[in-house]
Amino acid sequence: MPYIAVVGSGPSGVYTAQSLVKEARVPDVRVDVLDRLPCPYGLVRYGVAPDHEKIKSLQGTLRTVLQDERVRFLGGVEVGPALPPAKLLELYDAVVYCVGAAADRRLGVPGEDLPGSCSATDFVAWYSAHPDARDDGFVRGVRTAVAIGVGNVAVDVVRILARGAAELTPTDMPQAALGALAESEVRDVYMVGRRGPSQARFTTKELRELGGLADAEVVVEEAELALDPGYRDPAALPAAVRRNVEVLRGWAGAPRRGAARRIHLRFFLRPAEIIEGGDGRAAAVRFERTGPDGLGGVTGTGAYEEIAAELVLRSVGYRGVPLDGLPFDAARGTVPQAAGRVLRGGTVSPGEYVAGWIKRGPTGVIGTNRPCAKETVASLTSDLAALTGPERVTGDPLAGLIAAGVEPVEWTGWQSIERAEAALGRSLGRNSVKIADWEGLLSAARHTGDM
Ligand code: NAP
Repeated sequence: MPYIAVVGSGPSGVYTAQSLVKEARVPDVRVDVLDRLPCPYGLVRYGVAPDHEKIKSLQGTLRTVLQDERVRFLGGVEVGPALPPAKLLELYDAVVYCVGAAADRRLGVPGEDLPGSCSATDFVAWYSAHPDARDDGFVRGVRTAVAIGVGNVAVDVVRILARGAAELTPTDMPQAALGALAESEVRDVYMVGRRGPSQARFTTKELRELGGLADAEVVVEEAELALDPGYRDPAALPAAVRRNVEVLRGWAGAPRRGAARRIHLRFFLRPAEIIEGGDGRAAAVRFERTGPDGLGGVTGTGAYEEIAAELVLRSVGYRGVPLDGLPFDAARGTVPQAAGRVLRGGTVSPGEYVAGWIKRGPTGVIGTNRPCAKETVASLTSDLAALTGPERVTGDPLAGLIAAGVEPVEWTGWQSIERAEAALGRSLGRNSVKIADWEGLLSAARHTGDM
């Protein structure tokens, strides 16, 4: 019976497990899905915005996979110095790393580490109740916020900042973040792209949603949009981009309705510096005005503009982080691989695989992980006979994990966390509310008695 470890229980990890159990060539496979956190689902739980209930409901599909009798969820298991990749290869016939891209990219401009300037991923982690998140008092005293970058993460953080308490209360947002956002004085939120609207990375559905918020309205500057030849004449644009342009055109032509909050979409502004106020905190962003270079990029014009803001969120993409004991391509932020097989020094490393963002970089929507996982599993399956030779007898790897000092949170532990979150929500008069700290999660996981 081949034992496979999948490291990471986000969409790429769970789709990998699903592909493995669906694989007719290995009917007796056993898959352990390991996660550093006691909770499964990765970015679906800790990255998808709390007000995106429909995408969150994907957890139901992922749950079905993790409850398959051939699959076992083992949370609270961190691959690292105490449990290195080499040890996993002793315990399992093959290991698939689906560890995503946990860090944020940086701007490389002066002032980006000032208090009040932080990564969108930190902000997302806070309102998503990630147990490693720090409460930086993100919105305290903030009237204006700037998100740098025009991808879907920027759209998420801008929307969460612009929503009112009534829209956020039904979500599973942790109580502290809900309270802070509900009381926030944020009135103006900027989302700023260094290129033009036809080069923005957001998708139309997400963009359009900004126009449907209860207490906020979108403000665009027609003259700035029109700097983009693709905006002036969208005929040659790909359909998805043309739809974005149409949404922006609609806003450009619409009268202002005087909503309590404003979302300003700005383009052709490249961040040059985060400027410090008298109190040592971020007070403004200085941008250089850019113009299209005719090749899809931009050039600087030498003209500058400042946007005053007490909160600056850099939202310029995720970045993979190296895992001790695995090769890493620092330039790409991924593990070197061929069709999902990990390459060490350019040569296939037997039994080691990757899928998801750590394989292909932080792009695509959740569904993109499905074909990505399938490709990796196809490679693994054709290698399996060679990997499970007579000398590779392992037995149940759980004993080996426990001997290595690991105390996994199994599925019943996760179910206890779910019940505790439902109870917390009830006590607050809300739906299920996420527990936001390690101690709370682990103590809930241990209360498996009342099943
Ligand atoms: P992204 O889509 O790669 O967007 C990054 C943005 O940052 C781009 O606008 C990029 O501009 C800009 N940028 C990069 N470096 C910059 C710099 N030095 N200065 C100024 N701007 C800079 O990344 P993301 O928003 O983090 O999203 C990651 C992935 O998750 C995407 O595939 C996204 O679709 C997905 N996601 C999906 C959803 C959803 O479906 N609802 C929600 C969240 C995330 P350039 O184009 O000029 O480089």
